[in-house]
Amino acid sequence: MIRKALSKKVKFSANWQKLKKKIARLHERIANARHDFLHKVSTLISKNHAMVVVEDLKVRNITKSAKGDLANPGRNVKAKSGLNRSILEQGWGMFVQMLQYKQTWLGGEVIKVNPQHTSQTCPCCHHVSQDNRTTQSRFRCVQCGYTENADLVGALNILARGHRVIACGVETLVLTMKQEPLGSSNTRPILAA
Ligand SMILES: [Zn+2]
Repeated sequence: MIRKALSKKVKFSANWQKLKKKIARLHERIANARHDFLHKVSTLISKNHAMVVVEDLKVRNITKSAKGDLANPGRNVKAKSGLNRSILEQGWGMFVQMLQYKQTWLGGEVIKVNPQHTSQTCPCCHHVSQDNRTTQSRFRCVQCGYTENADLVGALNILARGHRVIACGVETLVLTMKQEPLGSSNTRPILAA
């Protein structure tokens, strides 16, 4: 009986090891693919932009809000489900690092700005309100009626903050705190998060 149980246990262990190896290989492949993708995107951006403005994001926050888990899926799961976006979010820290050293090589720069309310601020009249954000993808200012794609709005605000940093040396606007990814394309990091 014991021998039988033991043999079962050994067998289980072997399979478990096998499966564990398989999973590890899969993780490695995913990590490599992500790494490769982040390199391609950061290279492309660096080659075409002397100045890149990104939100100074706390990586943990993004992962938390976007991903959630099986029992409690994140609120933004659907809107953020684009593959590129998801890769960028998971690799955000690495991505910004790549951007920074590539910009340094090429004589450009990366400016990090306060991510607060970038998706809720009207680029037109500067009114800040959650209500400006009618849906994940739609922005409509409750004050002045300015309407635009929400990701683009986030991008405009982030870029404007970047310009303020350059002009003033410091970011003067300190109202905020919300991050929102920019578009489904690879340009997101230039514009928003
Ligand atoms: Zn407005």
